[in-house]
Amino acid sequence: MAATDLRIGGLAPMSSCDWPGELVATVFCQGCSWDCPYCHNQPLRSASGNQENRILWNDVLAFLEQRRGLLDGVVFSGGEPTLQAAVFDAMQAVKDIGLKIGLHTAGMNPERFQKLLPFVKWVGFDIKAPFSKYDQVTRIPNSAEKVKESLGYLLESGVNYQIRTTVYPPLLDDAALAEMKTDLAAFGVTEYTLQPYREV
Ligand code: SF4
Repeated sequence: MAATDLRIGGLAPMSSCDWPGELVATVFCQGCSWDCPYCHNQPLRSASGNQENRILWNDVLAFLEQRRGLLDGVVFSGGEPTLQAAVFDAMQAVKDIGLKIGLHTAGMNPERFQKLLPFVKWVGFDIKAPFSKYDQVTRIPNSAEKVKESLGYLLESGVNYQIRTTVYPPLLDDAALAEMKTDLAAFGVTEYTLQPYREV
């Protein structure tokens, strides 16, 4: 798949939050196969998105070339970037113009995530819940197994990361948070960021 096949639902031209400590542009990849009840990115969930407002990769690349020297990097976010094969070529193009690459993922496609790791300098990795409750959040069966596999690849890779969790109170109470802490500790993860759920 060529970078021009990348389905893009949005572009944030400048962000200092999407990759802590770096000034980045953020490319929002279209499509996510999970169905979290608190999703703030509903328009990005369908695989095809709104074709009328489609953002073309070549326009994104032209924009990034103009911002060379002003930006530190580019974050591929979503939706879920690991669902698109075209993200490899898009990342290579970003690398070729000398920008660093960050990736936001929920870990739903471990095989592709593992192959993308050599391209990236930083991963924002979402942990949604304790593994026993994952399917209640994602509303997809066996979703925790994919996440465990992806988390294992991330930790093996040595790539910098931030693990973060949106605390959606109806699904994540104190007992669930304590269980999640235990799950992560079993992977050797002791630092993670809790983000409060905000109504949209
Ligand atoms: S994984 Fe992220 S984009 Fe997908 S439904 Fe859940 S919150 Fe939304």
